[in-house]
Amino acid sequence: MCPVHPDAPANPQSVLSLFEGSGALLRGHFLLTSGLHSPAYLQCALVLQNPADAEALGRALAGKFKGEQIDAVVAPAIGGIIVAHEVARALGVRALFTEREAGVMTLRRGFRLEPGQRVLVVEDVVTTGGSTRETIDAVRRAGGLVVGAGSLVDRSGGAVDLGVPRAALLTLSVPAYDPVDCPQCREGTPAVKPGSRKKE
Ligand SMILES: [Zn+2]
Repeated sequence: MCPVHPDAPANPQSVLSLFEGSGALLRGHFLLTSGLHSPAYLQCALVLQNPADAEALGRALAGKFKGEQIDAVVAPAIGGIIVAHEVARALGVRALFTEREAGVMTLRRGFRLEPGQRVLVVEDVVTTGGSTRETIDAVRRAGGLVVGAGSLVDRSGGAVDLGVPRAALLTLSVPAYDPVDCPQCREGTPAVKPGSRKKE
């Protein structure tokens, strides 16, 4: 437990319990939309559907950047919006989000940053870091100074380098296999689409 915020799931084990308890992290043999097979499936929307859990996760992620002066939190839509909102709530600052406009991640809807405002970029899941990197670029184009990047989950096993200080509540290394190389296929167990809940 975090001594400052007793409700905050500060350690990876309690974060993992929240994810597993809500069905946001499933273990089994999954057919991903990419066509690859994986022994784990992550759907952060399920852990964020309970506002109290979302608030606690946001507070815990904000805690990873304590000591930093942060003026605003920015996330890529859609997956990052609730994360940004809850991290910003914990920090007492604004929550903004970026969206694609003609393919380019941009602050829209009248969202503005003052020149030099110190911004924390957040996401639900970092896989390759692509959308976080695009959001960092959008913040810089808007005049903001990116002081860090946080995510609920880093499924790259810590491998992604975004060029700014980075933190995640949970770091996982989740393999994805071409079906011909999938160990579970080799064992003869059928792959299921996540959400069909055939396997628990
Ligand atoms: Zn398989």
